[in-house]
Amino acid sequence: MIGAGGVATVAAFKMAQNSEIFSELMIASHHKAKCDRLVQAIHAKGYKLDIKTAEVDADDVEQLKVLFNDYKPELVVNLALPYQDLTIMEACLACGCNYLDTANYEPKDEAHFEYSWQWAYKEKFEQAGLTAILGCGFDPGVSGIFTAYAAKHYFDEIQYLDIVDCNAGNHHKAFATNFNPEINIREITQKGLYYKDGEWIETEPLAVHQDITYPNIGPRDSYLMHHEELESLVKNYPTIKQARFWMTFGQQYLNYLDVIQNIGMARIDEVEVEAPLVDDPTKTAKVKIVPLQFLKAVLPNPQDLGENYDGETSIGCRIRGLKDGKERTYYVYNNCKHQEAYRETGMQGVSYTTGVPAMIGSMMFLKGIWKRPGVWNVEDFNPDPFMDELNKQGLPWHEVFDGDLEL
Ligand code: NDP
Repeated sequence: MIGAGGVATVAAFKMAQNSEIFSELMIASHHKAKCDRLVQAIHAKGYKLDIKTAEVDADDVEQLKVLFNDYKPELVVNLALPYQDLTIMEACLACGCNYLDTANYEPKDEAHFEYSWQWAYKEKFEQAGLTAILGCGFDPGVSGIFTAYAAKHYFDEIQYLDIVDCNAGNHHKAFATNFNPEINIREITQKGLYYKDGEWIETEPLAVHQDITYPNIGPRDSYLMHHEELESLVKNYPTIKQARFWMTFGQQYLNYLDVIQNIGMARIDEVEVEAPLVDDPTKTAKVKIVPLQFLKAVLPNPQDLGENYDGETSIGCRIRGLKDGKERTYYVYNNCKHQEAYRETGMQGVSYTTGVPAMIGSMMFLKGIWKRPGVWNVEDFNPDPFMDELNKQGLPWHEVFDGDLEL
């Protein structure tokens, strides 16, 4: 496993709970001390899994190769940041390792999300006889598996797909992001995008919104956003006429976001500032910083939000289409309570809903169920065994047939 942040913490806990599948684990990240603290937390809860730790800069293919050649992992689970996807895939190819991640590649200097960079590795993984599984968190991840399950069991033609993601939790901080602040703010401040009748339609950031009613939560203002899984889902299900992604945001969060953008703190280009010298703090020099990275350093760490987080998340797929020539609707969703996630893993619900699917995807690979040379999105595999595991591993799902989908 590369990374030792919120999502990695949950995935490591869940692997430790499934030690008949995960017999050995190595956690490698920027800072070894962080990996060691995670191992201590897992062992303190009584789990016995043999876990090694290491320090690696995952931006550096050569460092990764040394690590992989030394440890010889069967599967590399990338839970670092989207910037590292390609270097880790390169190192996997060089060392004969299989690959899984939860977010598509994004260049550091451009907030741009698309699969083309990673799909370009398909032939190389095929030729090497290696499997790469892309986007195996909740969304992307379970959202694609829900869609594949609906297509397999309930529809001849999926025509309308709305992925609806609600976080109705409260962490009692004025402003915080639920996962890596840099990645989160880059995602939210970009233009919206949805698919309609064969075309991609762009909207201004967070310009389109409406109330959507979530189970056990009620109506919440939900914003249309670009989300990466739409790209693979419309390709894999060509009968789709319209595909959209919606996420809830509270007014306070949006006010802060507005200010952050308006004062330039969401910028991802370098700016020059005067800063004290490390060797002699009485002197200063001009240094370059990226405002958004500086902001990350002063915002609450998403990993520390769990303790006071109450409420729950609700993420699902609302689907309309045809079965036996008749129109039908289907809604499949999971609700996850932040406090239950915290009690089990020390992390809040957003890390939990991502880390659990990353573990299940890894389990599917290690059991040989999701093992196929090439580069794949989750909906390319059989959804049924994954759906069974969601129910067993802490993310039970529910179905509503032929209800009013509102959208
Ligand atoms: P965190 O920032 O909490 O964790 C990232 C981890 O990666 C940290 O341990 C960090 O180390 C490490 N890291 C960063 N850069 C490097 C590097 N160059 N080399 C080695 N290690 C590095 O993020 P999250 O846990 O919140 O998110 C992890 C991933 O999950 C992200 O890609 C995110 O986009 C994705 N995600 C996916 C979701 C989904 O539903 N599909 C939802 C939420 C997140 P250190 O802190 O020591 O610098």
